[in-house]
Amino acid sequence: MPRLIYRCETCGRTEVLDSEEAYRLGWDGPPHSGSYGVLGPRTCPIHGVVGTVWWELAVEHKQPSELTPRQQETLRRIVDEPASITPSKGTSPMSGID
Ligand SMILES: [Zn+2]
Repeated sequence: MPRLIYRCETCGRTEVLDSEEAYRLGWDGPPHSGSYGVLGPRTCPIHGVVGTVWWELAVEHKQPSELTPRQQETLRRIVDEPASITPSKGTSPMSGID
């Protein structure tokens, strides 16, 4: 199973985890929950879907232009998956995210 960067849309918590382990811990995100590049919640084990980009667009029916800068950044990261959530070799797991 690939190691991927998991980042909660709600609290910003970021961890690099084996996808199987992330799923077991309760993280939402591909490949186990949703698909790469397809809009869906990307959340940590303690946060739900309310307030995620998916929620704002699918449930609140907002336009992408109405999203906050942080939500737009999340949207770009989702579109660029899996490259955007793949840890780069030789650098810290956090670099290349912000
Ligand atoms: Zn969270």
